[in-house]
Amino acid sequence: MLTEVSSAPIGILGAMKEEVAGLLACMESVREVHVGMRTFYCGRLMNREVVLVISRIGKVAAASTVSALIHQFQVSEVIFTGVAGSLRPEVKVGDIVLAKRLLQHDMDASPLMPRFEIPLLDITWFLTPDLQMQQAEKALQDVINDADHHRLLTDEVLQRFQMTQPSFWIGDVISGDQFVSSHSQKKELQQLHPTALCVEMEGAAVAQICYEYQIPFTIIRTISDNADDHSEFDFPLFIKEVASRYSVEAIRRLLA
Ligand code: SAH
Repeated sequence: MLTEVSSAPIGILGAMKEEVAGLLACMESVREVHVGMRTFYCGRLMNREVVLVISRIGKVAAASTVSALIHQFQVSEVIFTGVAGSLRPEVKVGDIVLAKRLLQHDMDASPLMPRFEIPLLDITWFLTPDLQMQQAEKALQDVINDADHHRLLTDEVLQRFQMTQPSFWIGDVISGDQFVSSHSQKKELQQLHPTALCVEMEGAAVAQICYEYQIPFTIIRTISDNADDHSEFDFPLFIKEVASRYSVEAIRRLLA
């Protein structure tokens, strides 16, 4: 007789439905729980208990979703996968970024405290725990190797999104409640945060809640645009054809 080993589930989130659709399709024994206008998909993925949820876009949406994952579903760990705009010429559409440090670029309580510092927490950059970095680095390197060998994406998809050889980056990610889509916005962020690889709208909020509750977290981003005047394109298609495939492969390897 098989005995079920009970373990706390892992929480997995994406901001948009296209970002979690691929993962949901791979889940087994799915049970839906509705809390706070969100659907939490509880089930199994790679033989692990997981709770998958669409956080919706932005810092408040992401933070409150993580809070529900921790309190309502007792997750032991949180993984966020999504897309982001590049802040560096060498970081290209289709590349994967693993966040090592995360900052909220729209936080400004100066002159009470330094700009970008989270008030009363004394933190400016949230750090991904070492173990999560090591595990994700290995998993994502494998995903990129597969992508480079054209095992994940067809030539047609690579051409459509003008992707050549995707690269894998580890470093600083900044988050704020702004879709960055002009040269001037991008330039300002580059000047203020020269180490940042990309910009998105949830990561540093997820990191803050996980930090406050001491829950290990991993933030993975596929570059979807260059955060400039050309950043509006077919988002849902890019996520479906590229980013969500990366997410499925990355999470499968992380849970294996
Ligand atoms: N135009 C899109 C909206 C995407 S909002 C649509 O209509 O569906 C952007 C989402 O992708 C957020 O979840 C954010 O985290 C990420 N993102 C991708 N590129 C971004 C950019 N240039 N600036 C900010 N967030 C970005």
